[in-house]
Amino acid sequence: MNDSGVHEVVIVGAGFGGLGMAIRLKQEGIDDFVVLERGDDVGGTWWANSYPGCQCDIPSNLYSFSFAPKHDWETAYPMRDQILEYLRDCARRFDVLRHTRLSCELLGATWVADQQHWELETTGEPLAARVLVVAPGLLSEPWSPELPGLDRFEGKAFHTARWDHGDDLTGKRVALIGSGATAVQAVPAIQPRVGKLHLFQRTPPWVIPHMDHPVRPQLRELYGRVPELQRLSRAAIYALRELMVPGLTRHPRWLKAQELNARLNLRRQVPDPELRRRLTPDYEIGCKRIVLSNDWYPAIQAPNVELVSSGVSEVRERSIVDGDGIEREIDTLVFATGFKPAELPIAERLRGREGRTLAEVWDGSPEAYLGTTASGFPNLFMLYGPNVNLGHNSIVYMLESQINYVSDALRTMRDRGAAEVEVRAAAQDAYNFEIQERLAQSVWNNGGCGSWYFDSNGRNSIQWPGFTFEYRRRTRRFDTPAYRLAPPTRAAGQSSSVGGGGGSAGAAAGVGGAGSVT
Ligand code: NAP
Repeated sequence: MNDSGVHEVVIVGAGFGGLGMAIRLKQEGIDDFVVLERGDDVGGTWWANSYPGCQCDIPSNLYSFSFAPKHDWETAYPMRDQILEYLRDCARRFDVLRHTRLSCELLGATWVADQQHWELETTGEPLAARVLVVAPGLLSEPWSPELPGLDRFEGKAFHTARWDHGDDLTGKRVALIGSGATAVQAVPAIQPRVGKLHLFQRTPPWVIPHMDHPVRPQLRELYGRVPELQRLSRAAIYALRELMVPGLTRHPRWLKAQELNARLNLRRQVPDPELRRRLTPDYEIGCKRIVLSNDWYPAIQAPNVELVSSGVSEVRERSIVDGDGIEREIDTLVFATGFKPAELPIAERLRGREGRTLAEVWDGSPEAYLGTTASGFPNLFMLYGPNVNLGHNSIVYMLESQINYVSDALRTMRDRGAAEVEVRAAAQDAYNFEIQERLAQSVWNNGGCGSWYFDSNGRNSIQWPGFTFEYRRRTRRFDTPAYRLAPPTRAAGQSSSVGGGGGSAGAAAGVGGAGSVT
């Protein structure tokens, strides 16, 4: 913190993005930073999602920071508890915990132009930062429908991302709404112990066989002794997954082999043709996230499970009524209804150069330059921002690309004596025009399904439309020409810090503020 109490960097969120950024700052020798985390532990989505069966659908050897391999994953696809333990271990090992304020939520952040810093209101102390990095996660705000009568319900009701572990559901009558990636994991995990499970499915997912298996202790030990072997496995997994990109982004018919795989899986596991019909999607595979499971179809066919496809019309004190008017008594209602990532509350809390919030500027359609910076919001970097999400590969790869980019931005500010960087509106517009043009050819936009990739204006604000190595290349260097760089103002010059050349050197470099460094 400098003499005016301004930190060099404040990071919001301690999931993969925020922790990765914090670790990089330490590696770059920047020690004056604070990580704010609203949860009472690090881990982000892997802390918040503790529902039974929670597992990542990216293989373990790939789903970790490139600089912090873990040789002893227990399963080929990592379970939630192991990922959480990995992230806790990274936070400890790289000495990030000392910088982290847990149970501390960002309530508002305002850019103060003459001081060239962000002022932050939090549930703890107020803070100020030269640079603000927000890493709130994409799937961090659970969403559930406002069902008629829900407020009268006398049983327990909760979302999968806020699982109520006080109720182990043994022998209970449960209604679970949703059949996306979360439901496909949670349903087989709770089915054996519930008394009755009414599964409300609106749209069936495409489900392919899961290749998960325990990793033999000898192999774990070998990875520990010969890390190159695990790196080779990691590279092979990465490359194989990239092969899906042309099918997802341009030529959906190239996904036909996947569709055949899913159809065979359904035929093999569900003998009843009528049930098979109800479980067969009517949209192209890949349009929604492809789901991996060997136990979803068996669970649905268990004697204590009923598949309901007519929707929910009402919730009563002790029951749920379907679209055909049939009433079922229930004790617990579980929402596996996902998230609304295009409406993240943090956008309402960031107020930029012109006094407007990011949510007001976006007006329902999030956009950024390289998914990371937004015009009108100097010194703000978003990790896992708009159009960075993937349908096929590890998001950690994308986050590390963004972290490289932010680090290079900070280095550039220091080298050029800049106290302020802001992406030019023209660069942001051109970038987003390109992204939207490319998405128009994708299976997400044309596959005949609705999904959380679309915002309230019907625009795909979520997906990255190309190979991940293209994104890595485009974020390798901070591309200065796309930005307005400004030296310290007189007021801020006294305390400038991120630009290591800041302080008095920065003040000497130029008065006159915006626009005179580049
Ligand atoms: P989701 O994919 O958005 O699924 C939500 C489900 O709720 C859908 O089946 C949806 O039906 C249903 N739904 C929503 N509103 C409804 C209503 N009013 N009535 C009936 N059904 C309703 O959410 P999610 O399953 O939580 O998954 C979200 C994302 O998290 C995934 O796409 C994935 O990226 C990630 N995830 C990953 C893993 C993994 O790594 N294995 C696991 C879990 C989640 P419609 O399809 O008809 O809208």
